Amino acid sequence: MSKLLPEGHGSYELQPANDSTALAVVKAICPLCGFEFDNHFLLTSRLGRGKTEPDMRIRHTGIEPLHYAITTCTKCLFSTELKIFEETPKRYAENIHKALEPYKDENLEIKIGRERDMNSVFISFYLALICTPLAVDRNQELECAGIHLKIARLYSDCKDKKMERVAFQKSYEAYHHIYTTNSRIDDKLSLQIAFLLGDISYKLENYDDARQYFYKIKTSKKATPTLAKMTDDRIEIIRDIMNP
Ligand SMILES: [Zn+2]
Repeated sequence: MSKLLPEGHGSYELQPANDSTALAVVKAICPLCGFEFDNHFLLTSRLGRGKTEPDMRIRHTGIEPLHYAITTCTKCLFSTELKIFEETPKRYAENIHKALEPYKDENLEIKIGRERDMNSVFISFYLALICTPLAVDRNQELECAGIHLKIARLYSDCKDKKMERVAFQKSYEAYHHIYTTNSRIDDKLSLQIAFLLGDISYKLENYDDARQYFYKIKTSKKATPTLAKMTDDRIEIIRDIMNP
């Protein structure tokens, strides 16, 4: 059994698109161990304008950017978003490599570039959950909440309802902790987190909680017109569910 992948994690047939013109393969060097490898790279200019779904997820035709969002060094397993990957100082290596030690002997098959498969995508994300908080100097909790949310969306795409719930619950707990304890987040971020908490509560069928979060946004007067409109739509949907 895998130490990295959680209990209940399955194998999934969904295949990441590898024929998009937005996907390139470029050389990358691991900042921690110096290993050079062919990495996938998304040309954002070729992704085009994405369509924003009611839960704020941005979709692109022809490719799912989440499949290529994480860079993983196949030698030392250092794994995180490309921007953080490139900027991580070498002096963090000891700490990160120590955290990765338990997974070294797992023979994780991580395919990168055009060879990418769903198994590799999930492995990269679960490794990123371990590495990212050790690679950034601030917002560690926010980074982890975001990774859990992305993992939940991947399970949703793979139609694994059970694991989707587990990951959404983890994401909820992380965002809720930030929302209730971090006084340093600004109004804009606070409203965004409230929206995500409302959306996740909705997905977990906690409609009372969902409604409360969306009402908080509605009454705050600080929401942008787009967020206010998205919030009104959600309140209406929940009202229909609760008062059929
Ligand atoms: Zn490495």
